[in-house]
Amino acid sequence: MSIPYSLIKVLGDEEDPGLDRKDRDIREQKKFLLNDENMTGKYLGAVLDSVRWGGQTSVAYPMDVKELTGFIENWMEQNEDNFEELFHQESVEELYEKLELPKREYEKCPRKDSHKGTTTDLHGRVRCTETIERKVKPNFHDKFEGFDELSETEKTEYLELIPHDPIPSDIRETIERRGPEAVSEHWKDIYEGEEERIRREYEEEDEKVMERDICMAIISEQGYIMPLEKVVERLDVSSRLSGNRNYIEHPFDGWTLASLTEKWYNQLPGEETPPLYSKEADEILLQNL
Ligand SMILES: [Zn+2]
Repeated sequence: MSIPYSLIKVLGDEEDPGLDRKDRDIREQKKFLLNDENMTGKYLGAVLDSVRWGGQTSVAYPMDVKELTGFIENWMEQNEDNFEELFHQESVEELYEKLELPKREYEKCPRKDSHKGTTTDLHGRVRCTETIERKVKPNFHDKFEGFDELSETEKTEYLELIPHDPIPSDIRETIERRGPEAVSEHWKDIYEGEEERIRREYEEEDEKVMERDICMAIISEQGYIMPLEKVVERLDVSSRLSGNRNYIEHPFDGWTLASLTEKWYNQLPGEETPPLYSKEADEILLQNL
């Protein structure tokens, strides 16, 4: 995900009421803050900025998505009487021209323009209901479960396994025109061998529908009360492909994350707190669609 324009601060050099880490390193500071009410009375922006590496535009926290969400939850618990006043020293409106939660909004299905049909899931997200058929040859496929970014669900994927052609095209042409006796023993043996038998089986086998699946790509999240965990996760730019998810990387500092946390909190009126975590909610959704 690219850096949303809305995250670029309007004001640059605020006086920084940062925390003094003393001689603690980032990880020691994280442990320190999680205990003994050490975050009580502190701005969320300041505590977040004291547990991360990097500058204002690229920061990393030594925590995965759940841990960072839990860290903010802990800060809320340590300030249960007045955390609403402690997200940031300035109001969101004064600091940013526009600051939005990372909600998705498309005019059409992001998987394919031609997809039709929508439904609104239990969490208020509009999803695509196009049925997708996957056709592969039954004896030549591999199947795996994978996370689908567009729907944020686990989906089964089918891969066609195409056998390698063991015979070069000019030799094959000669065989087809004049028979296998016309080529050298070497190619004749291959032509009569196992590899070629499998290749022919592949060519003769018909493609069949292996699975019908609903697209479910997320089209709009206007009516979605986004969990804090999802906010942290969506804005994470660390490489997920490497499988290293032990830290979170954001293209903005802890104060901006604090303001986004305030936006998250303000999704519901009054003192009702929106969900912190998303996992359980998503599982319920899948059972009901
Ligand atoms: Zn679709």
